Amino acid sequence: MKFKEALTYDDVLLLPQYSDISSRSEIIIGNSLGDNIWLDLPIISAPMDTVTESEMAYALARNGALGIIHRYNEIDEQASLVRELHRSLNQYAGEEPIIGAAVGVTGPFLKRAVALWENGATVLCVDVAHGHHALVKETIQKLKIELGSKIHIMAGNIATLEAFNDLADWGADSIRCNIGGGSICSTRIQTGHGLPGLQTIFDCAQSDRDVKIIADGGLRSSGDIVKALAAGADFVMLGSMLAGTVETPGRARTVGNHQIKTYRGMASKDAQVKWRGRYSSNEGVATEIPFKGPVQVVLDDIERGIRSGFSYSGARDVIELQAKARFVRQTDAGHREGHTHILSR
Ligand code: IMP
Repeated sequence: MKFKEALTYDDVLLLPQYSDISSRSEIIIGNSLGDNIWLDLPIISAPMDTVTESEMAYALARNGALGIIHRYNEIDEQASLVRELHRSLNQYAGEEPIIGAAVGVTGPFLKRAVALWENGATVLCVDVAHGHHALVKETIQKLKIELGSKIHIMAGNIATLEAFNDLADWGADSIRCNIGGGSICSTRIQTGHGLPGLQTIFDCAQSDRDVKIIADGGLRSSGDIVKALAAGADFVMLGSMLAGTVETPGRARTVGNHQIKTYRGMASKDAQVKWRGRYSSNEGVATEIPFKGPVQVVLDDIERGIRSGFSYSGARDVIELQAKARFVRQTDAGHREGHTHILSR
């Protein structure tokens, strides 16, 4: 029996380093997702029905980030969300807008993929819980045959370097890394499988394949995002950090003096019953979270935090950040000290 140590975001900190950066505006936090796909903000929203439809994708695109429109609807509905976004973005972009949408690996996924592409999607996300799977291989290959190099293929989720390399060899252009780390996820409890999220990034960053790493799930702050990027991720995928904003699907509801919105895992019983009328393995939860207002406020805070994080490592871009990053492991007491603790005295 072999055991390996696996670290996650709260286990580590980045050592502050000498910096000669005089203004945070000198720092480039963006990255390239692939040919002709540059994102100014290394953020991608999760393809979940309480996070990303066209409103969220539009707000993200206007900030240089990317939304992946979820697939938990009829093909026509998803295609019309993509079309709506393409129209509204076309008036701003001088070139073809970057539009992401998800597909599954069973049923009429190919028909869905073609409809999404015909309506303007440029990034297709093969979106399944266990991505190191023969069906994902088959799906990527079919998408390649049907759509060729016209489309960027994002795939996942995976937890190991072996899986990362396999998906890269099957033709994925970017890979969602992390199994069981999402805020609404109960996969590790239900199945005993997974790997702490930051360790997944450390491991996948060892790959020699030229494929983008997306740190997905479990990110709760701009500090976690900086740690993920420093560990080797090119982008982060966010669910809970964007959930509860105006731009997520559904309305805010008033309870007492508070406004709330729903955020739920796509493998939760609630979500499964809604999109397919039944549920199988229940690997997520549904919850209500405080309404946060416009996503712009959240994105501005995240961007400021990331810029500040790069500057603490003396890094002007993500390549420099990854080269310079010095992680230390902290104790539980160190972790407690790092959280504002005046109120607990
Ligand atoms: P968060 O940003 O920590 O809230 O995590 C969001 C991520 O959790 C998504 O991008 C998915 O990878 C993952 N996820 C979404 N729904 C479920 C679920 O029901 N069970 C397990 N993981 C989920």
